[in-house]
Amino acid sequence: MKKGLILGVALLFSFSLFIGCGEQEKKEQEQVKAPVPQVEAKPKTSFITIGTGGITGVYYPTGGAIARIVNKKRDEYGIRCTVESTGGSVFNVNAIMSGDLEFGIVQSDRQYQAINALAEWKDKGPQKDLRAVFSIHPESVTLVAAVDAGIKNIIDLKGKRVNIGNPGSGQRQNAIDALTAVGLDYNKDMQAEGIKASESAGLLQDGRIDAFFYTVGHPSGSIKEATAGKRKVRFVTITGVDKLLEQYPYYAKSFVPYKLYPGAENDSDVDTFGVKATFVTSARVPDDVVYAITREVFENFESFKKLHPAYAVLTKEGMLEGLSAPIHPGAMKYYKEAGLK
Ligand code: GLU
Repeated sequence: MKKGLILGVALLFSFSLFIGCGEQEKKEQEQVKAPVPQVEAKPKTSFITIGTGGITGVYYPTGGAIARIVNKKRDEYGIRCTVESTGGSVFNVNAIMSGDLEFGIVQSDRQYQAINALAEWKDKGPQKDLRAVFSIHPESVTLVAAVDAGIKNIIDLKGKRVNIGNPGSGQRQNAIDALTAVGLDYNKDMQAEGIKASESAGLLQDGRIDAFFYTVGHPSGSIKEATAGKRKVRFVTITGVDKLLEQYPYYAKSFVPYKLYPGAENDSDVDTFGVKATFVTSARVPDDVVYAITREVFENFESFKKLHPAYAVLTKEGMLEGLSAPIHPGAMKYYKEAGLK
């Protein structure tokens, strides 16, 4: 009897153990099946590069300003933005089209030409994937000449050594248009150089060129460098502007504000024509990336404006002007939300 009781207890015990095991297993299985507790998923990092211009221009600090604003929200958007110094507008359009760069700063006239298969893109055809994001500061076609070279008007460039700009730059075509408007052929009437703008100031100061063209926002480091040296320089009036405005829809009257460069031998603003710097991308860049950048620049507009004196004239509405490529849908989403479109 005693034995039977012991056996019974033992059996009961092992049975309950068995039951216990089964429950444990079930619990474990349930645990495996249970969804992983919800942790906010971090977006995967998108690495993007902005193509700019020479480091003494305004594009380079502009790329830096945009990158800084966007990188502040790295954890939210997962965007890691870097800036590259490049040969300028034409280089940037081509690098964006080939996928080497995601974004770039490009003169408004170059944007127009690229989308309409003009100038450098005449043979290549329209750059159909080019997309506009916003426009930024105004740029003036700036002609800087050594006083000792006796250049007082663009027409005086005849027979001189002139840097009209490297082939990847925006200014090269502007220089050619301005020269053509006054009847000068850059191939025949002068010794035209095709050197990067970042080298122009040094070449002028060293007496290796007499003048250079640079389409740039003001003030710019490179023009400061050119006007602060031993060799005296002046800004030269570009005449024939009305003719240029009639001929090309993307040019507007502009001037060089002489007061920004106390070293220059000018005592009034200098008439010329100009364009706008614009921020562009490719249709292949994802909407959320373009949306994030647009949003951050516009939502931080007041602090963005303070990042360079050339932005003093910016307005949000004005930043949607001067765009000829279709606006990227990511940017458009923000403009609609913000009531700007
Ligand atoms: N407008 C020039 C270009 O497209 C660049 C000016 C700058 O770097 O600020 O090449």
